[in-house]
Amino acid sequence: MTKIAFLGLGRMGLPMAGNLAADGYELTVWNRSPAKAEDFAAQHRARAAATPYDAVSGADVVITMLADDRAVLDAYTGEGGALEAMSEGTLAFDMGTVSPDTVGRLRSLLGGRGVDFVDAPVSGSVTAAAARSLTIMAAGDADAVHRGREVLSSLGDPVLYLGESGAGSAMKLVVNTIVHSLNQAVSEALVLAERAGIERSTAYSVFLNSAVSAPFMQYRREAFERPGEVPVAFRLELAAKDLRLALELADKVGAELPQARVNREVLGAAMAAGFGDADESAVAQYLRSGTPPP
Ligand code: NAP
Repeated sequence: MTKIAFLGLGRMGLPMAGNLAADGYELTVWNRSPAKAEDFAAQHRARAAATPYDAVSGADVVITMLADDRAVLDAYTGEGGALEAMSEGTLAFDMGTVSPDTVGRLRSLLGGRGVDFVDAPVSGSVTAAAARSLTIMAAGDADAVHRGREVLSSLGDPVLYLGESGAGSAMKLVVNTIVHSLNQAVSEALVLAERAGIERSTAYSVFLNSAVSAPFMQYRREAFERPGEVPVAFRLELAAKDLRLALELADKVGAELPQARVNREVLGAAMAAGFGDADESAVAQYLRSGTPPP
């Protein structure tokens, strides 16, 4: 039986690990705040590990689903880190949104231990994670992706092969420049409608019945209409991280992203105004507050 170590039980990691447990994999979970891993183990057929090192010992497949570059590097190389316990032939997938540089670093660190590292970030919401309908962008050695396809298929569909290592991470940043532009556009349009005397939910109904309707706008409706009342689906701070990484990539490859640059500044200002841990749709709240954007 395939033994899986899953590191990171945040908003996305929790339903993803839940799907692996439901599929009968022998699962060990680790989370920085241990209570989440202990709760998970109490509710599923899974073991909670105290450290990443402990979690990955003896695992065939290791999956990281952590907040950012630093978190995943720490999980591998920090105190109690996974790296030293990784053995030859293990498959490692990073499924969070990190930079292609971090992918390169992890690939070389893990490659040194005979581990195949695949960047496999996901596009989709927490709901899509629960429904196994995440789009997975896997990149790296084709045979490694092939070997891991069954496990990845427990987590999402489609599983797309992007090619060389780092291409999954780059593609994820590319697609998120569009997602965060939509978030900014909806926020601005909603506040404009409200200031023009149009009721919020009426305006949103018009969005959804107009040419601009998109799945993103459909599944974010409640968050935009009832800010603060709906569980956070995607922390605003993580959106700012995505755009920072996309802008770094753009500088590196020589692309101009004027819109992403402005969107990143607005997210920075919203964070400074205290919205970092709020849902990304809180950009509308920030604009409503009347604080002049940067
Ligand atoms: P989240 O709810 O904020 O969870 C973040 C996870 O990372 C938690 O397990 C957290 O542990 C852990 N973490 C944070 N900093 C850490 C550190 N320094 N060391 C170790 N662990 C650390 O985030 P999420 O929404 O699940 O997102 C996870 C990743 O998927 C991110 O890269 C995000 O950009 C990407 N993503 C998110 C979505 C979405 O809709 N939410 C969609 C696609 C991709 P604690 O529990 O201890 O805080």
